[in-house]
Amino acid sequence: MNVLHEEPLARHGYWRVGGPMERLVFVGDTAELAAVLAEAPGAHVLGNGSNLLIPDAGLRGTVVKLGGVLRESRMLPDAGDSARIHAGAGLLNAVLLARTAKLGFGGLGPLAGVPGTVGGAVAMNAGTALGEVADILEAVEGIGPEGPRTIPRAELPMRYREGGLPPGFIVTAAVFRVSRAGFAEEQVRMTTHLARRKATQPLDLPSCGSVFRNPPGDHAGRLIELVGLKGHREGGAEISERHANFIVNLGGASAANVMACVRIAWERVRAETGVALVPEVHVLGEWPGGVWPLG
Ligand SMILES: Cc1cc2nc3c(=O)[nH]c(=O)nc-3n(C[C@H](O)[C@H](O)[C@H](O)COP(=O)(O)OP(=O)(O)OC[C@H]3O[C@@H](n4cnc5c(N)ncnc54)[C@H](O)[C@@H]3O)c2cc1C
Repeated sequence: MNVLHEEPLARHGYWRVGGPMERLVFVGDTAELAAVLAEAPGAHVLGNGSNLLIPDAGLRGTVVKLGGVLRESRMLPDAGDSARIHAGAGLLNAVLLARTAKLGFGGLGPLAGVPGTVGGAVAMNAGTALGEVADILEAVEGIGPEGPRTIPRAELPMRYREGGLPPGFIVTAAVFRVSRAGFAEEQVRMTTHLARRKATQPLDLPSCGSVFRNPPGDHAGRLIELVGLKGHREGGAEISERHANFIVNLGGASAANVMACVRIAWERVRAETGVALVPEVHVLGEWPGGVWPLG
């Protein structure tokens, strides 16, 4: 097991901000993960860092990163056009999509363009215009405080951008349903979806995607734009000119700059529209003044 000490999240996270993680442990299989968790119960897990924010002062304790066999995938035998794929939680969604497509199977549209890992996608119930993880998930495998466990999808209370995992549960693999039927049509829909994102989102700058969940029947970006915050800057962080639900790092931003943008967006939208936005980004660690409004 490789262990890094005081390793900045800024080197691993999409925003390129965030202070040192006290101990970052790279595990290659479930036995290694179980050993780390036995020694450091409650350890955090870092996926691809595409939806995570920690303070500039850093994060105490142990963070695990899944590698080795936890990045493998294999098709499970099934009948006819349908199949299931077993995907390690450390695998990037993009790699899983490419491998599945090469075999002529589709169905993983909810992961298209989501720049995280399989584990992160399950934990967040990630989704796109082509659906959400909850629609395609059959079961998750992982290790919780009581030890290893497989949880059928039906037992997970998944909701919009919430995986419904039990507290402290680290996903080691997910089983998704895939199918040959509709493969070509899905490829076309994915291409359209990715092109639309490219045209409307600031994908050329470091960000964590959408910072807030969309409130029912509305869009967080529309509300932030409505209160005049598009283009608002705090140090090197900006509420994106192109899409107001994205906070981008223009270069040299700190985690505090990002958090200041998050706070002003939440406060202004709350004060002027009455809507209390719910964050999509996961925030860890001790923040000066607490992490309000994030939890
Ligand atoms: C440019 C951009 C576009 C994006 N577009 C989308 C989109 O279209 N749809 C969407 O839903 N999201 C989108 N996101 C957000 C993000 O990619 C997703 O939330 C993604 O699922 C996070 O996965 P990750 O591996 O990066 O997780 P991380 O950011 O590393 O972690 C996020 C949370 O998941 C937990 N986690 C990670 N791995 C595991 C595991 N194995 N077991 C248990 N918990 C785990 C972490 O502890 C943390 O709480 C976008 C982000 C960016 C930067």
